Amino acid sequence: MDIQEVRSLIKIIPDFPQKGILFQDIFPIFRNPKAVETLITHITDHIVSNIKEKIDVVVGLEARGFLFGPIVALRLNASFAPVRKRGKLPGNTITAEYQKEYGVDVFEMQDDAIKQNQNVIIIDDLIATGGTASAAGELVKKFGGNILEYIFLIELVELDGCRKLKSPVYSIFKS
Ligand code: 5GP
Repeated sequence: MDIQEVRSLIKIIPDFPQKGILFQDIFPIFRNPKAVETLITHITDHIVSNIKEKIDVVVGLEARGFLFGPIVALRLNASFAPVRKRGKLPGNTITAEYQKEYGVDVFEMQDDAIKQNQNVIIIDDLIATGGTASAAGELVKKFGGNILEYIFLIELVELDGCRKLKSPVYSIFKS
């Protein structure tokens, strides 16, 4: 299977979670092991050929970043660290606030998830406005992590969310 066939599995669901939103559903990819294999190999080949530093930590964003982040981490022999909404992670955490459409939200990571100067990749399924990814980036910087790249499966190009990010971005599919 090639990466364009993986793209064809992404399903557009109108009016989810609200009327007027065209939601890109990535779960059909995970129904097909060959599609997952193609996707993960694409991501790891991209990293290995474009980033010369050793990746120490793959950071995945709640919730769909948890689907492929750990597999990429395993292939890179890196650790995986989750970013979650406030109150979901046990033990001591470090937090970053971010502005949502209505009000403020808080992201957290466990305080031993990243060590100073470790090389980090941040991974999520989709970048829209970039608010989620930039908040995750601020959080990683509180640990002193070096963000080498953000990786997204899908970028909604018109929203220009990458503009908010201070590290390079690789989006597999532009929409
Ligand atoms: P942003 O903060 O860039 O505006 O929104 C990105 C976040 O919203 C990501 O965590 C992503 O999972 C979620 N998201 C927004 N729209 C979609 C969509 O159409 N499909 C998927 N799979 N996720 C979406």
